[in-house]
Amino acid sequence: MIPYGRQDITPADVEAVLQVLRSDFLTQGPAVPAFEAAVAKQVDARHALAMSSATAALHVACLALGLGAGEWLWTSPITFVASSNCALYCGAKVDFVDIDPRTYNLCPQALERKLIEARRQGRLPKIVVPVHLSGQPCDMARIYELAQEYGFKIIEDASHAIGGRYRGEPVGNGRYSDITVFSFHPVKIITTAEGGMAVTNSDVLAEKMALLRSHGITRDPAQMERESEGGWYYEQIMLGFNYRMTDVQAALGSSQLQRADAYVARRNELSARYDRLLASLPVVTPWQHPESYSGRHLYVIRLKLEEVRKTHRQVFTELREAGIGVNLHYIPVYRQPYYEKMGFAATGLCPEAEKYGQDAITLPLFPTMDEAQQDQVVMALTRILST
Ligand SMILES: *Cc1c(COP(=O)(O)O)cnc(C)c1O
Repeated sequence: MIPYGRQDITPADVEAVLQVLRSDFLTQGPAVPAFEAAVAKQVDARHALAMSSATAALHVACLALGLGAGEWLWTSPITFVASSNCALYCGAKVDFVDIDPRTYNLCPQALERKLIEARRQGRLPKIVVPVHLSGQPCDMARIYELAQEYGFKIIEDASHAIGGRYRGEPVGNGRYSDITVFSFHPVKIITTAEGGMAVTNSDVLAEKMALLRSHGITRDPAQMERESEGGWYYEQIMLGFNYRMTDVQAALGSSQLQRADAYVARRNELSARYDRLLASLPVVTPWQHPESYSGRHLYVIRLKLEEVRKTHRQVFTELREAGIGVNLHYIPVYRQPYYEKMGFAATGLCPEAEKYGQDAITLPLFPTMDEAQQDQVVMALTRILST
């Protein structure tokens, strides 16, 4: 099976991990701050906070921005469930904004329409989470304008997008958002096995997220409520979690990060080659906004079902049977049984997202994929679509 994504672990990665294993600190040592500094530099952000996962980073980001019970978080329905679950962790409510039919990202026009309606009903969101699907940046300048007008905060879910650029600047530099979150799960652009990062330019948000990630405990006298009682003294000043990344993971991350740009370049190369090879098939290849450079985490095609004699499911199943590890990223989140039980109807909320869920297929794409493997994917798809 050619997988849809796969990590690349080099001898240098292995050596970096072994060095930590032989050192004094497996966690809370120097490798985590070193990785944080490297990511901050890479994405041009002031602060970077390593976490046990992007899911943890999203949770902490919501809490740092003050999301509480009864408040609203809005996101795209075409995302991994973590982008919206983070609101539920905070006791907040979730709603979804339909996608742009070309980029499949949260649509700023749909967002504006929904904001106008929400203002009328007095239920404006506190936080909006644009998701850079496949690594292609959302229309952040427009979403940021709307944030100024309607008073919401922005968390960019850039789980797919480290190494991507928006209007010539790195995703994560915070020009159009409060916090940006990256994932380092093995299928993503770079990996720490499990792991994530929250980046921000705000000193206040960084301090809050640092506390929340580690039990709400501080050893900084400036943050303490009482006088130190001795060298052992620390204070818990809020309720936090253990969402720390280990030094073992951070060492892997730092080593991987050195190749992030090369990975993204290779992903773009392979994507361009897919575009050429698939041009004559009854599929829509991914449209790229001219202002952005995508991290190309995913290569998603849309089947032109009216030109194909098979169903979405048949094409998908036959690709899997041919050893092609296709996937679907994603069915609309609100169609998950858990969300339906919260009261979301199965259809009608976001028509573009629902259409996407009925004809999208993610083809294999990873930096160590070779052209022979890619040819195999194209041949299988060509055969399946023509019979
Ligand atoms: C992978 C992913 C997450 C969650 O990342 P983890 O590090 O696995 O917690 C969140 N959002 C999106 C869009 C993702 O793809």
